[in-house]
Amino acid sequence: MAAPAVYGNWKMNLDVVEAIHLTQQLGVLLRRSPLEHVEVGVAPPFVDLRSVGSVIEADRLGLVLCAQHVNEHESGAHTGEVSLAMLERLGVRAVIVGHSERRRLYGMDDALVARTLARVAGAGLRAILCVGEGLEVREAGGEAAFVAEQLRAALAGLAEGARAHVTVAYEPLWAIGTGVVAEAAQVAAQNRSIRATLADLGVDAPVLYGGSVSAENAAELAHDGAVDGFLVGGASLRAEAFHAVCRALDDCYAANR
Ligand code: PEP
Repeated sequence: MAAPAVYGNWKMNLDVVEAIHLTQQLGVLLRRSPLEHVEVGVAPPFVDLRSVGSVIEADRLGLVLCAQHVNEHESGAHTGEVSLAMLERLGVRAVIVGHSERRRLYGMDDALVARTLARVAGAGLRAILCVGEGLEVREAGGEAAFVAEQLRAALAGLAEGARAHVTVAYEPLWAIGTGVVAEAAQVAAQNRSIRATLADLGVDAPVLYGGSVSAENAAELAHDGAVDGFLVGGASLRAEAFHAVCRALDDCYAANR
């Protein structure tokens, strides 16, 4: 089992005041019930990064500051976009790349995912590469092949030195934000197939699961789904629920190592 990690994707939620408050609440819980093994990160909206980063630093929370997205280019005429250098300057250490909402709603295709991944991992930041099949693909039994193709498209051309900075997040689209969580056996099967593809590509990356992870299902997924951690959306907006997910993974790791 790779070192476990949980990242909270706040998406387009929480203004700066709310973001500070949530970070502080999380800090209280982490002090009361510290985690031994799990790396925990939060990915606030861009406009909250500086304030959340300041709280993390001032209160020594040990949280990894993450971004939800980054532009593939270094700088220039890209109105509304943000560069990796800008994020690094704010203390960002990990970036979510190719989240299904970016792919589906904002036209991020496999080629753009690959270029963005190369930018992030090439700079030595953790690149959390999201992959996952839609419901139609799953119903047709094509989920393993579909995800293997996404992985190949993103990783085949990645420079050797950048590979160590990749984390894969398997997020079946039908489980994201729906309350429908994949069964642990489905997650385990897909993870086996993902690990086989990664081995083929010469990439040794942790594999997370994402999709309606909650305090209630995290322990079973961690145990039977053989995951290295979680990418959490909805539940990461509530400090107690997010901390409980991290706690479940931490306990599972301690019991199994
Ligand atoms: C996500 O969007 O990455 C996600 C996993 O969301 P949720 O936990 O809300 O399903």
